[in-house]
Amino acid sequence: MIEVKALTKKYGGVTAVDCLSFVVRPGRVTGFLGPNGAGKSTTMRVAVGLARPTAGTVTIDGRRYADFPDPLRRVGVVLDLAPVQRGRTAAAHLLAFARSHGLPRSRVAEVLGLAGLESVAARSAGGFSMGMRQRLGIAVALLGDPGVLIMDEPTNGLDPDGVLWLRTLLTDLAAEGRTVLVSSHLMSEMALTAQQLVIIGRGRLVADMSVQELTSRVGGDNVLIRSPQARQLRDLLVHRGATVTSEEPDALVVGGLAAEEIGAVAVGHAVPVTELTTRRVSLEEAYMDITRGAVEFEGTQVRR
Ligand code: ADP
Repeated sequence: MIEVKALTKKYGGVTAVDCLSFVVRPGRVTGFLGPNGAGKSTTMRVAVGLARPTAGTVTIDGRRYADFPDPLRRVGVVLDLAPVQRGRTAAAHLLAFARSHGLPRSRVAEVLGLAGLESVAARSAGGFSMGMRQRLGIAVALLGDPGVLIMDEPTNGLDPDGVLWLRTLLTDLAAEGRTVLVSSHLMSEMALTAQQLVIIGRGRLVADMSVQELTSRVGGDNVLIRSPQARQLRDLLVHRGATVTSEEPDALVVGGLAAEEIGAVAVGHAVPVTELTTRRVSLEEAYMDITRGAVEFEGTQVRR
């Protein structure tokens, strides 16, 4: 578990994080979201002892990161692209980490497998693409088989295959009971990867809720149905507890019933239907609404 308690971090006159508190629990992927400049990296850097808080604390399983005698076994960290020694192969890079942290040699092959780097293990990591470097960084983070993972924008540089791979990996790691905190500025990405969302803006907490809660808060999915007998259909659907609004005379927007149920009602009463479409709520729009005003260089500030 990661606990951020009343964390404030100032850089000179800039307040990067402003009395931020939240808890990251094990067993699910927590997405750490916010526009660029919101304070995500700063929070993560404080969490892993790379920045000193101005006030407040971040603890991991009850301790500060710096107090772990064996941090690599406790917390896997992916922040910026880590440098690799020129000419060193991916396997040698991992082996150096394993040796210096007293981890078994066998872990190298295991994490190469987890990171999908087996086929390039003997290649010089200096020549790796950004995506492969990112995978190597994730392999290092997994080397000590840690119970907690902290990753800052880990999809940076990954191709679509890589993004899909990472999504599956993070989901599996969380399902094994690990605590997984992953930052992104993209809701579209987090909605598919995370179950819990911690959203910040201008260093402050804006929302801490499950993806499901956010979906229902913005109204949930609805169904658009077109019929020349829209009025009759409306009465039938309302009778079944649906919420129905109308956008056009022959169209209904229905909440609370699935498309199959609505179709069955129409068929059951011989009401002709010309369109039946499930419309997914846009979490992206909800996110923009939530964080509007929390974008650092927006509006008047940019024009000034
Ligand atoms: P995010 O990761 O959400 O994009 P950051 O934590 O990187 O946000 O940045 C939050 C704010 O803190 C920004 O205004 C950024 O310019 C500022 N900041 C971050 N790191 C430093 C630093 N080392 N020195 C000065 N300002 C910084």
